[in-house]
Amino acid sequence: MMDHFQNTFARRAGLGKHQPHRVLLVLAALSISAFAGTQLEDHLGAIVWPPYQDETVQLMRGYLRIDTSNPPGNELAAAEFFHRLFDQAGIPNTIYPYAPGRANIYAVIKGDGTLRPLVLLNHMDVVQADPTKWRLPPFSGEILNGEMYGRGAQDMKDEGLLQAMVMLIAARQHLPLKRDLIFLATADEEVNGTGSAWMLENHPETVRGAEFLITEGGSNLIIPGRGTIHSVGVGEKAPLWLRLTATGRGGHGSIPIADSAPDRLVKALARVVNWQPPIRLLPPVEQFFRMIAPLEPEPQATQFHDIRKALQDPAFAQSLSRNEMYNFLLRDTVSLTVLQGSSQTNVIPDTAYAELDVRLLPGEDPKVFLGQFRSVLADDSIRITPANRFKPPNSSSTDASLYRLIEQVVHEYSPQAIVAPALGGGYTESQMYRQLGITCYGFNTLEVTPEVDATEHAANERVPVEQLRRGVKILYEVVARAVNQ
Ligand SMILES: [Zn+2]
Repeated sequence: MMDHFQNTFARRAGLGKHQPHRVLLVLAALSISAFAGTQLEDHLGAIVWPPYQDETVQLMRGYLRIDTSNPPGNELAAAEFFHRLFDQAGIPNTIYPYAPGRANIYAVIKGDGTLRPLVLLNHMDVVQADPTKWRLPPFSGEILNGEMYGRGAQDMKDEGLLQAMVMLIAARQHLPLKRDLIFLATADEEVNGTGSAWMLENHPETVRGAEFLITEGGSNLIIPGRGTIHSVGVGEKAPLWLRLTATGRGGHGSIPIADSAPDRLVKALARVVNWQPPIRLLPPVEQFFRMIAPLEPEPQATQFHDIRKALQDPAFAQSLSRNEMYNFLLRDTVSLTVLQGSSQTNVIPDTAYAELDVRLLPGEDPKVFLGQFRSVLADDSIRITPANRFKPPNSSSTDASLYRLIEQVVHEYSPQAIVAPALGGGYTESQMYRQLGITCYGFNTLEVTPEVDATEHAANERVPVEQLRRGVKILYEVVARAVNQ
């Protein structure tokens, strides 16, 4: 096989007898890379999967039983769980406690250093669960009708456990690696992100120089009658929360005041809620529409295929903007969420305020946005103050070897699936790691129905057991190939 390949290559490259040295050099180089390729194929082919898949299911049940509801988190218990597994497999690892009960864990399998590291990032905390709303206890890991229940089964103990399994399999099977394979599980993603923030502030060396990072932010929906869409998270919008405060003369409600604080605030807010920031089509969003076009009936199929062109038609732009699930991908958005005036009906307050959940697209400059916003507000007497700590939105290009590899491996397992880049409306920790120059993707290997997907952060969060078994194999293949190319 290898010889045949080399001969073909030599013929195609037009290498004849008059260039013997070059031929030998080319053949030597080819032999090494072909050998590496064969070695990897042999490695993948030699793995006996059922025991690893059984272990995945069993460990997942154990992981779900560790209550890491945040607050308070108690991620140290989860870090110790991973620590025991890694120690048993001989994988160097370190727990970084940073507050009572709170810790991150870092593990690494060294590569030969030819390529820059790949990081598998996951958070160990979960949101709280009200057991009275659940069919099965939220920290049980119990299985019913082929589905495993537990808080974190979707977000993101499933992905975290699969990432840990990939580390264990890589160590036990002696995976050849051209880059370091890093596992980083953090605390407090769901509330304040202190786990990753602490890690990057105190131990940036653990991920410095990494080329790629895989974490949450991907989702693979089985849409009945339409097919499966694998969304790879490539960027997120950034929250720019604003508080608008109007002040004025207070008084008795029986004697209206024409320019009272609430009156001016409401008039200005009316201008804001009637405003639509301009469309700014980002390359991954354009690519997303092109990828999902085949699932659409005409004329949308044609329009989605070339969305940039279609959006030039104001009627189409308007109708697309009316779809909530598409609108937020196209522009910065503003949601009015908090309104506060007087607490008594007959009192005109001297202060009224509102809060807006503004989300900016990657690449947007908050100063430019605020300039536009002020002119829409058209009332300089209203004070605008930030209501959160703004973190500049960023994104990763799909033009990268890891993205192509994900597409390739997903299609091996699900030939009909559509793989499309996704821009998230919410925040993920990728934002912090991209600032270090790391290409970050939200990639998940589990395919679920919208019904199961909707249990994330809700009651009866669960994951199909078969998907865990299948998912560990897919993730391993992606990672094994990624650390060798
Ligand atoms: Zn999460």
